[in-house]
Amino acid sequence: MKRLHYYLLNGGIDVMTSKTLDHFLKENLDDLKERGLYNEIDPVEGANGAIIKIDGRELINLSSNNYLGLATNERMKEAAIEAINEYGVGAGAVRTINGTLDLHVKLEEKLAEFKGTEAAISYQSGFNCNMAAISAVMDKNDAILSDELNHASIIDGCRLSKAKIIRFNHSDMEDLRTKAKEAKESGQYNKLMIITDGVFSMDGDVAKLPEIVEIAEEFDIMVYVDDAHGSGVLGKGAGTVKHFGLSDKVDFQMGTLSKAIGVVGGYVAGKQSLIDWLKVRSRPFLFSTAVTPADVAATIKSLELITNSTELQDQMWENSRYLKEGLKKLGFEIGNSETPITPCIIGDENTTQKFSKRLNEEGVYAKSIVFPTVPRGTGRVRNMPTAAHTKEMLDNALAIYEKVGKELGII
Ligand SMILES: *Cc1c(COP(=O)(O)O)cnc(C)c1O
Repeated sequence: MKRLHYYLLNGGIDVMTSKTLDHFLKENLDDLKERGLYNEIDPVEGANGAIIKIDGRELINLSSNNYLGLATNERMKEAAIEAINEYGVGAGAVRTINGTLDLHVKLEEKLAEFKGTEAAISYQSGFNCNMAAISAVMDKNDAILSDELNHASIIDGCRLSKAKIIRFNHSDMEDLRTKAKEAKESGQYNKLMIITDGVFSMDGDVAKLPEIVEIAEEFDIMVYVDDAHGSGVLGKGAGTVKHFGLSDKVDFQMGTLSKAIGVVGGYVAGKQSLIDWLKVRSRPFLFSTAVTPADVAATIKSLELITNSTELQDQMWENSRYLKEGLKKLGFEIGNSETPITPCIIGDENTTQKFSKRLNEEGVYAKSIVFPTVPRGTGRVRNMPTAAHTKEMLDNALAIYEKVGKELGII
């Protein structure tokens, strides 16, 4: 934005003309491209399954969040088609006018059951769910203790609430305790909240929920867990909170319906009073149209599949163990992930990007993730093995990793 200010101050321009806007954008876009920070988007030609087609080439897909392969599940597709035939393609209104279909109610009952809570509320996405729920409860007289590696939607949700944001070092319980104590004893704040990802998406590590809950109890603080990468993955599918047996100790169990669940949407599960409050106070619920019937029906089917059998989860864990072992044996640095998320840490940003590009040319789609998404010097290619991958696909991917790793002198 620096350049924009420059135009406004030095150009003597009061109103930004479209020509000025164009100039500003082009200059900044060129700058990003020069620094290798411009992300090119590759459209996928067809379904986002274990094999994807891009530019007419078939690639082993190690970049989706489709943990259980449910994004292309036949029974969910049938449920979506049936819902379209019965309800049409749009919900017709926001939830609080008459966009709440009986399907939405059924979904929310299923979500509460899935999470072991009194009630649940669903939203159009995980991102807007965080924007909605945090700001509906916290305000400028409150403070939020937030893990420094929390997801962007948590950061934005916290900012929107206008509460004081107190960042603690990643999963550093001593730092959290010190800051929680300080905030409590300062007497400056009405309400306090600790907010954390359940599973951290860049490294695959799990939040230390038992200690977080203990600190929260000691200082009388609410707990909000964003379990986007834990639901469908940990706790026999129910997520990180269930994995630790803390379902009655976490006030907000937030999650997404777009990752392991395979469709789209977000939700908060918790006490009935919390859900009732969110239904009258969270703005995306009041002012943005409800999720489509097809999506809701597919999600309900997905939750049924996940709760009725652990077959897909077992397959996903087996595949992720296989890929991790294979990469480690080849000599790659794969960090300390406790979940299927498998980073292959390369380090230098340029080498990371080159590595990902060469994998792509050889037939593996694994995106590079570099600064500012992860700290400088910890550039990585992130692999997401799913239940839908076959051994053969993983073996092929490992052979390509070996070839490219040796070629670039990484292993
Ligand atoms: C992906 C993600 C979200 C956003 O969920 P969407 O449903 O894709 O909007 C929120 N929080 C975390 C931690 C995530 O990983």
